[in-house]
Amino acid sequence: MATPTASLPVASTPQPEPEAVLRAVWGHASFRPGQREVVGEVLSRRDCLAVMPTGAGKSVTFQLPARVAAMCVLVISPLLALMRDQVAGASARGLRATWVDSTLSRSERDTRLEGVRGGAWELVYVSPEGLPGVVGDVRGHIGLIAVDEAHCISEWGHDFRPAYREIGRARELLGDVPILAVTATATARVAADIVRSLALKDPYVWRGSFFRPNLCLAARAKDRLTDARRTVLQAVDAHDGASGIVYCLSRRDAGALATYLRAHGRTAAPYHAGMDPGVREQVQAAFSSGEVATVVATVAFGMGIDKADVRYVVHADLPGSVEAYAQEIGRAGRDGRSSDCLLLYSWSDVRRRLAMTSGLAGERRVDVRGRLLDLYRFARGETCRHRCLCAHFGEDSGPCRGACDACGGRSAEQMLASQELPLRLIEWDDRPERSIS
Ligand SMILES: [Zn+2]
Repeated sequence: MATPTASLPVASTPQPEPEAVLRAVWGHASFRPGQREVVGEVLSRRDCLAVMPTGAGKSVTFQLPARVAAMCVLVISPLLALMRDQVAGASARGLRATWVDSTLSRSERDTRLEGVRGGAWELVYVSPEGLPGVVGDVRGHIGLIAVDEAHCISEWGHDFRPAYREIGRARELLGDVPILAVTATATARVAADIVRSLALKDPYVWRGSFFRPNLCLAARAKDRLTDARRTVLQAVDAHDGASGIVYCLSRRDAGALATYLRAHGRTAAPYHAGMDPGVREQVQAAFSSGEVATVVATVAFGMGIDKADVRYVVHADLPGSVEAYAQEIGRAGRDGRSSDCLLLYSWSDVRRRLAMTSGLAGERRVDVRGRLLDLYRFARGETCRHRCLCAHFGEDSGPCRGACDACGGRSAEQMLASQELPLRLIEWDDRPERSIS
């Protein structure tokens, strides 16, 4: 039988064990579910798709192999802000990370790319749109392409970006480099689309559990008698200064609701894509530090948020799909402690969203409408919400045993009343990415 040989390029010293790197760089004693399996497959140069819920530690799966195999990983990341956050986070851990984008001066960009060729970097972040411009400069010096937030590749994912579809071609130009695609939300259909679009070869697929029993799920219909603003104010007060996120449909709604909360003396700030990037960063920093308790945001807020103690997520309006809802509530309770997720909905929310789809063509429009109606049915549903969510992602979680309003858990009314949230620590499979001290 042949002796296994190191299959990755140019490691002049013996490879360290993944466990040793995890301890030294991340300070974790053990891998979280799925991480070790994916890392192992990546190190054997196999294409992989990892579907890991928010907070499951996705970035470890591509950052750690860079150190173990002494290679440079090209990370495709959808947002400039997210890219910089990840570079800052990786650098703080002692990983050699940088990004390349169009805001860099010519000479700075050349210096960074020269660094790739010289082995200076373990991680280089680029956007999908920026990828074609760097491929020629880094050819032969990349050991892995990591596609972060890979659902963006799919027409059936909620952040569809056509540039992602060119990644498969970039892989050919880079010289048959393996691809690892990671995402927090992918139905079977989106996962199949990712595999097809990236032309993954016999990929190893890891699918993490979406069951998070520390999230208390409840929904409540909005009607004319219920002023949604007052309801949100009640929810903020019920959580007594704890950190929370309120999601709204439009930028204007987010701004108006934040103003309303501030007028009532609460520390709240808006966050949406129409704001100046500098101000957005300030809001994010103030939220992370706890200086601002409540962020009132559109869908623009969230990717890259690494705050473990978000105690509530309130949807003041119905989100656009079950996937979007799952991703947004996934930002609550990443420390494993109980957290409230309150969904406020109405048929007029559905109508507003449907009006936004009028510019879409044919099949895509039908799909967007279908996914919106799926969520509306979920909101009105009377069966276990956790079980419904998991089923949507192809998982049978079994009953939640009191972690949703349908199963006798905290009701919307209890979430709005000023009573202590039972801060029990619930073990679930996916602990927060950073250890909490
Ligand atoms: Zn339930």
